[in-house]
Amino acid sequence: MPRYYVLLGPPGAGKGTQAKVIAEKYDLVHVSSGDLFRDNLKRQTELGQLAQTYMSKGELVPDDVTIAMIRERLSRPDCVNGALLDGFPRTPAQADALAKMLTEFKGGVNLVPYISVPENLLVERLCGRWTCRSNGHVFHEKYNPPQIAGVCDLDGSELYQRDDDKSETVMNRIKVYAAQTSPLIEYYRKLNLLAEIDGTKSIEDVTAAMLAALEKA
Ligand code: ADP
Ligand code: ADP
Repeated sequence: MPRYYVLLGPPGAGKGTQAKVIAEKYDLVHVSSGDLFRDNLKRQTELGQLAQTYMSKGELVPDDVTIAMIRERLSRPDCVNGALLDGFPRTPAQADALAKMLTEFKGGVNLVPYISVPENLLVERLCGRWTCRSNGHVFHEKYNPPQIAGVCDLDGSELYQRDDDKSETVMNRIKVYAAQTSPLIEYYRKLNLLAEIDGTKSIEDVTAAMLAALEKA
């Protein structure tokens, strides 16, 4: 049976950072909705242009197009064994749609690691984030600096600061998370799928806690 994990947490919690490590360890495909939108934007697709109008303001892209994009991604052959979802679902309607589509793929959500980080730490994490152009690897100028400034340690590509990591947009993304995404904490708790992880610890400690939660699942 394929296995699906959903990483939950506010923007800047460390979902992308942890997803890279875990996907490799469990041989799962990392499916990041934000990366998929940014890839569409780079290729100037219609979806990318539509998404950009929302992303630049820190708003959510409408559910229907987001769900369709994820369905297409999860139905590709590399996801036969499942996936590690990062950034999706972000609304209860997306979570309902995910549950429905996973039954079609003969699976279901196995665990929801929820990386919890208080709001006051998020702004600094996002404003100091540097992202790699080729593969979305993330660094932080203070907490996880690259060996050479501006260059990705893992693939040598250029590091850039995302437009939506500027402080005005960051504040709105945090608000949008609180209003539209945080209800998913209770949603998955009720289903007994939630594993809460203290995201204020070091990157290595968070990884260890995450691996322990996944071993038990
Ligand atoms: P998300 O995908 O949840 O938005 P990221 O994984 O991109 O979050 O992390 C946001 C920023 O915080 C990045 O710059 C990353 O290097 C940094 N970061 C991630 N985890 C930690 C941590 N445990 N402690 C300090 N900084 C972290
Ligand atoms: P973060 O690192 O803050 O978690 P992401 O890279 O996941 O950010 O998302 C960046 C932007 O892409 C969001 O602010 C939103 O506009 C859009 N987006 C990503 N995932 C979704 C989703 N599941 N539903 C709607 N919009 C999304």
